[in-house]
Amino acid sequence: MSLADEIVHLKNFKIVLFGAGNNAKPALKYLNDNGIEVAYFVDNDRNIKNIEAYTIHAPEILLTENKSDLRIIITPNFPTYKSIETQLLEMGLRECLYSTHFLCCDDMLDHFGYYDDSIGFCCASFSGFHRTRPVFPYLDNAEATIIDFLQKRKAIFDRVIPVGCAGCSRLRPHNMFGCKIKIINISPYPAICQAKCIYCNVHTNPEYNYKNAKHSQYPKMIIEMIQYLQKNNFIDDDCYFIFAPAEITIMPHKDLLLDVTSKYKAKFLTNAFLFEPKIADSMKKNNSIINVSLDSGTKETFKLIKGYDLFEKVLTNLKKYREYNAFELKYNILPGVNDSDSDIEGIIEILKLLNLDSLHLSFEYNIPLRTAFYPIVKFVAKLKENELSFYFHTPYYTPSQIKDFIELYFNSESSSYYIEKNNSLGEIFKNEYLNDYNGYREYVYRNEIKELLECLDVGKKIVLLGKIHKNQRLVAGIKQLGISIQLPDLTLEESYDAVKDNADIFIVPERRLFKGIKQYVESKGGDSKRLLDIEKYFYSFEPPISFLKNNL
Ligand code: SF4
Ligand code: SF4
Repeated sequence: MSLADEIVHLKNFKIVLFGAGNNAKPALKYLNDNGIEVAYFVDNDRNIKNIEAYTIHAPEILLTENKSDLRIIITPNFPTYKSIETQLLEMGLRECLYSTHFLCCDDMLDHFGYYDDSIGFCCASFSGFHRTRPVFPYLDNAEATIIDFLQKRKAIFDRVIPVGCAGCSRLRPHNMFGCKIKIINISPYPAICQAKCIYCNVHTNPEYNYKNAKHSQYPKMIIEMIQYLQKNNFIDDDCYFIFAPAEITIMPHKDLLLDVTSKYKAKFLTNAFLFEPKIADSMKKNNSIINVSLDSGTKETFKLIKGYDLFEKVLTNLKKYREYNAFELKYNILPGVNDSDSDIEGIIEILKLLNLDSLHLSFEYNIPLRTAFYPIVKFVAKLKENELSFYFHTPYYTPSQIKDFIELYFNSESSSYYIEKNNSLGEIFKNEYLNDYNGYREYVYRNEIKELLECLDVGKKIVLLGKIHKNQRLVAGIKQLGISIQLPDLTLEESYDAVKDNADIFIVPERRLFKGIKQYVESKGGDSKRLLDIEKYFYSFEPPISFLKNNL
């Protein structure tokens, strides 16, 4: 049943809307459009006096109403929604609450993203915080595609959770009011880019090449979809555009795309090989910004990472962009590759030259965070010394957790362990993997697993639980140590049952599954202290011995 069908019976009640903020007018309109009269508004903020012809009352007025005739609809979204609900429950008005909320995430409400050869709400599966995400494939033309997308979006307001969202930690109760699109993310994969960053597969995989005939119609289609959304008033005036990844300055139909979106604020991810005047105009006119991942502080490292000798040219372009607005300078830390003292000193000089006061630190997601930890600390220390700040993005930790970890490191006895490890990674990269970055990544993973397992007592029999084909990287690392892991195609529980009597340690490959298997083992009378959460290890900062002591 749709929400519109469901609320018909509200006509028999006196309806009061709680909340005079952003959702108030859209809520009023939605209810009126469906033939439901609103009696008045209440709000805790006594500075808001009225909405259209309605006076805003203090919530206490609700206590004077006949409860059996009254229904209160809370207009704000989570988390304000929750605090108002608690307030009304404390006022003894439980029976009067009526929820028009449905389960969704912020992205579903206001996001329209252009990804792969499909469109969608979010980049959850790319960002690593959820395994799947809802996608809406291209249909025959732009209009059919966007209408299909909008209809599925509307179904969410009728409480149908899209396929792909189940289990996502970002689902929250939201209200359906005021749902214009406020973020448009243009992240075309397959992408076009002239750089050859060693950590990126855009230039190595022909499937991702824009010139591939299969993908050539998409840039035009995305422009037509934006034009359709504009014409039908679906885009909020304050809509924010994100152009990432791929290189906007050489994208087919780039001029038309930049013209169609020229009135909106935007973030452009660019390699800055080229200076684009339309981007500069948007920086000045709309306060838009660019985000440039320089990943180097020296000419030599730039060439190694980006594949071209264009360090000076990029710096010249950055100086030109800086005349229009400040921007984000990003540094993707590759342990042992771009974290030498000369690179750190170089990037600090560049920040000063560009009059930017912070560096956007990142690390490569194909490398365990624990491997990138020491270089991150090195960067942070140098930035602090120069009174510069940093911004560190990872979906796995909050910024305050990262700060805590860094402080912990500075007071930690484990520093020498990390310093030594980082130096040896640099040597390994230079001597064995200079032209094989994928090989280097695999080496880093195997090395982390090896270091951990070598700290276990000699003679312990170790098994990896779960489906081997889903855990190839772990399997490769573990096999290298000569450990037996022959459990093809079994669930975690099945594989535990199969080996529980002849193994000492059980490796659990995925952190999100750890709690479930722990409960299972305990329910069978087993010892859950023998379960090793290997993903937790990859994202922990403890040296292997202390990690094992605290987690086994
Ligand atoms: S997968 Fe998660 S973030 Fe993406 S649309 Fe669904 S609930 Fe939102
Ligand atoms: S600039 Fe971006 S898209 Fe281009 S190769 Fe580098 S990481 Fe890939």
